[in-house]
Amino acid sequence: MKLGRFGDKQRLIAAICLLLVIGFAVTVVVNYQVSKSAIRKSMVANELPLTSDNLYSEIQKDLVRPIVISSMMASDTFLRDWVLSGETDVERMTRYLREVKDRYSAFTSFFVSERTRTYYQTGGVLKKVSQDEPRDAWYFRVRAMSMPYEINIDPDQANKDTTTIFINYRVLDYTGRFIGVTGVGLTMDAARRLIDTYQKRYDRDIYFVDRQGLVALGSSAHAQGSDIRKSPGLNDIAESILRKGSGSFQYVQNGHERLLNVRLIPELNWYLFVEGTDDEAMSAVRSTLYYNLALGIAITLIVLLATSYTINRYQSQLEEMATTDKLTGLANRQAFDVLLAQSISESHRTGSPLCALMIDIDLFKNVNDNFGHLVGDKVLRTIARAIKGTLRASDILCRWGGEEFLVVVKNTDLDQAQVLGEKIRHVLQSSGVLYKATRITVTASIGISAYHGDDTPDRLISRADDALYAAKAQGRNRVQLEAPPVPHSTQPTDKGNS
Ligand code: GH3
Ligand code: MG
Ligand code: MG
Repeated sequence: MKLGRFGDKQRLIAAICLLLVIGFAVTVVVNYQVSKSAIRKSMVANELPLTSDNLYSEIQKDLVRPIVISSMMASDTFLRDWVLSGETDVERMTRYLREVKDRYSAFTSFFVSERTRTYYQTGGVLKKVSQDEPRDAWYFRVRAMSMPYEINIDPDQANKDTTTIFINYRVLDYTGRFIGVTGVGLTMDAARRLIDTYQKRYDRDIYFVDRQGLVALGSSAHAQGSDIRKSPGLNDIAESILRKGSGSFQYVQNGHERLLNVRLIPELNWYLFVEGTDDEAMSAVRSTLYYNLALGIAITLIVLLATSYTINRYQSQLEEMATTDKLTGLANRQAFDVLLAQSISESHRTGSPLCALMIDIDLFKNVNDNFGHLVGDKVLRTIARAIKGTLRASDILCRWGGEEFLVVVKNTDLDQAQVLGEKIRHVLQSSGVLYKATRITVTASIGISAYHGDDTPDRLISRADDALYAAKAQGRNRVQLEAPPVPHSTQPTDKGNS
C-alpha cells in the first residue's frame, strides 16, 4: 500500500498556494485602492484648498498692497491739491512719486493728468498721452471706466518697456470730477518671483487665469497668455471652471491625473489655480504595494516549503509505520509480502534455491504469565535481535504474528536452511533476558520449506507452517524440515524428519 499519493500532494499544495495568492492579492489590492482614494480625498478636500487659502492671504499681502497704495495715492490731498492748483511745480510731483515708489518698494509710480494729459513719473515728465497713440489706449479706457481701478499688464515706457503689472486708479477731485489716473507698477518678474516662491513653498503648480480664461500669470506648466480652453486635458473642463468660478476639479494630462482647486481673487479679478498630482504620495503607496507583494510571495514560498516538508515527513513516517513492526522494528507482514514476492520471482528466474523458516517461540504464554506482558515484549525484542544476528543482509526477516517470525533465505537449499535453523535455535536458547536476577530463557520450534518451481508464496509458507506444527508436536525446541512430496501410492503423511 502506498500512502499520500503524489497527485493528492500536488493538489493540496496547489490549493494552499492558490488560497494564499488570492488572499494576499485581495488584501494588497484592496489596501492599495483604499490608500489611493484616501490620499486623493485628503488632497482634494484638505491640501489644495488649504494651500489656496494660505496663498490667498499671501497674495492679498503681496499683490493687493499695490492696489491699496494706489488707492491711497488717488485719495491723497497733496496730489489732488497739486492738480487743482495748476500742476505748477513738477519737481514736487516727481518727488512725491519717488517717495511712494521708494517707501513701498514699488517698481514704478505715475500720475497722468486729465487737464494737461501729462504723464508724470519718478524721473519727471515722461510724455503727453494722446488718444491717437495706441500705447496710451489704457488711459482712455480707465478714464471711461466706472470701476475705481483696473489691473493692467503692459510694457512700461518709462522703464525700457519692461512688462509691468499696473494698478491704474482713477483720481477724482473733491466734487467727484475725474482729474487723472495714478498708481504703481509691479514688474512681471517680481510677480513671477512671487509665484515661484509660492510654488516652491507649497510644492504645487500655481497660476492665475483671468475671467476670459487666459493665463494672466503663468507657471512652468501653464504659459502666460495661453488659453485654458486650449490646454490639453484642461480644455474639457475649462468652461465649467469659468462658469463655476471656484471649487475642486480633476483632469488628466499626459496620462497623469491632476487635481485642481480654483478660487476667485476678487481684488485682482483673477482666478487662482492651485494644481497638483498625487504622484508623490502614490509612489509611496505603490512601493508599499510592491513590498507587500514581495512579502506575500516570500510567505507563500515559505508556507509551501514548510507544507511540502511536513507532508513528505508524515508520508515517509506513515510508510514506515505501515511496513514496520512497532515492537521489534522488523518488517511486518505487509512489507514481507512484497519482499517475498520479489524473492520468489527472482528465484524462479535464476533457478537458485530459496527456503522459508517459520519460527514460533515455545510456551511463550508462560513468559507473559510469569513475568508480565511488558517483560514479554522485551523478550520478543531480544529474540528479534538475536534472530537477525544470525542472518545475512540479503535474508528477509519479518514478524509474522505475536511470537512468530518468518525468515526467507535466498540461494539456500533445504540442508543449508536446516543448518541455519539449528543456528537460530541455539542462539535463542542461549540468549536469555535477565529479569530481576532471573534469567528468562526461551526455546523455539522451527519449520522449514523449500521453494518449488510452481509454488505460490502461500503454499511455501503453509508448508513451513505444517513443518512447525510437526516440530511442536514432537516436543518443541526443534527444527523440522517439510515433508517430502507424497507419492500417490504411499501411506498417510509422515511428518517426522528432524
Ligand atoms: P506454543 O507456541 O509452544 O504452543 O506455546 P505458546 O504459549 O507460545 O502458545 P501460543 O502461540 O498459543 O501463545 C502465544 C503467546 O504469545 C500468547 C500471547 O499472549 C503471547 N504474545 C503474542 N504476541 C505478544 C506480544 O506482542 N507481546 C507479548 N508480551 N506477548 C505476546
Ligand atoms: Mg504462536
Ligand atoms: Mg508459541
